[in-house]
Amino acid sequence: MHDPHHDPVDGDIVAPPPKIPVPEHVAEAIRTLIRWTGDDPDREGLLDTPQRVARAWKEYCAGYGEDPSHHLSRVFEEVGGYDEIVLLKDIPFQSHCEHHMAPITGKASIAYLPRNHVVGISKLARVLHAFARRLQVQERLTAEVADCIWNHLHPQGVAVVIEAQHGCMTGRGVRTPGVGMVTSRMMGVFREDERSRAEVLKLMGY
Ligand SMILES: [Zn+2]
Repeated sequence: MHDPHHDPVDGDIVAPPPKIPVPEHVAEAIRTLIRWTGDDPDREGLLDTPQRVARAWKEYCAGYGEDPSHHLSRVFEEVGGYDEIVLLKDIPFQSHCEHHMAPITGKASIAYLPRNHVVGISKLARVLHAFARRLQVQERLTAEVADCIWNHLHPQGVAVVIEAQHGCMTGRGVRTPGVGMVTSRMMGVFREDERSRAEVLKLMGY
């Protein structure tokens, strides 16, 4: 039996994390921000907001407490002669931009061409989330996911394409709702061989 809190598999029902204590100076910082935006942190509807915000941010940034490569440590050598692309397509994710701490929401497609071994397919999503649950820029998120798979699985190729919307663009500043940003990182055969790259992009739906 594995402990679902430590190694949940897809489909497991995971109990909500226990409420962590929020240090007073953290709550006070959020009260200051509320005041600065023009509202009154002492009005009834906002009384518990600093605690909620602080705990929510601990969850948004849970990736700091995680080693993403840990998810790639259990590999399967026996692949039955399978030597084609493995692709996990359109994985929804949420992150936060490091410039505004605004939400980044989108989907990622992650593919690799195995050399000698594969990982459980859900592990690719876990690597993504471990990096996404930090303050990020989309370009770095894309590169970190690809590099992690490249360095720990030693595959023949890695392809990561991320398409996301940025709250800091849609909700403020230039206010362009619906505009998505696409970033990609190709490594190994997907970088060097045009046909392999075209094949993986087509599988991803691009
Ligand atoms: Zn931003």
